[in-house]
Amino acid sequence: LFQKEQYFVLILGLDNAGKTTYLEQTKTKFNKNYKGMNISKITSTVGLNIGKIDIGNMRLNFWDLGGQEELQSLWDKYYAESHAVIYIVDTSDKERLDESKIAFDRMLKNDSLNGVPLLLVGNKQDLDGCITIGTMKELFTPVKDLLGSRDSHILGASALKGDGVMEGIEWIVEGIK
Ligand code: GDP
Repeated sequence: LFQKEQYFVLILGLDNAGKTTYLEQTKTKFNKNYKGMNISKITSTVGLNIGKIDIGNMRLNFWDLGGQEELQSLWDKYYAESHAVIYIVDTSDKERLDESKIAFDRMLKNDSLNGVPLLLVGNKQDLDGCITIGTMKELFTPVKDLLGSRDSHILGASALKGDGVMEGIEWIVEGIK
């Protein structure tokens, strides 16, 4: 029996960053027959959203973990199982950039994520007044020893419109191959 190779991808970031929307767009773009939720009606993740897509002989299983402060401690439990991480930042919410950077650094410090490819997504680029991806890159560039030897990449996106989602997933696929 032909078995797909299973991979696990974590989608992390603060609550309201756009994780659920990003996952819904991923499923919509990669699963031909997927009729998902109404993208404009998605509300912030509490708990865990899961999704899977098949690309060639790979099956990517996504875990979108709740970003609320009290849920961030649960992230650790999933780290050991994951092959890639997508970290989503709301680039329009300047008041929470520091909070997001703190959660990001805390995630990178976790040893079980060593060497795991990391995609940093600057989301909500469709909104007026959002910070540019250049600015975000400066803010989120981690001290070198935190990044280690992993592959990392930063991309702008509008999960709401679906811009940048395809490119992101394609980067992840290359990264875990
Ligand atoms: P989560 O808590 O990280 O899962 O965030 P959600 O996916 O639930 O999104 C939170 C809110 O932000 C929702 O109202 C989404 O419609 C909105 N949102 C998500 N992505 C974008 C985006 O790229 N642009 C805009 N304008 N809104 C977005």
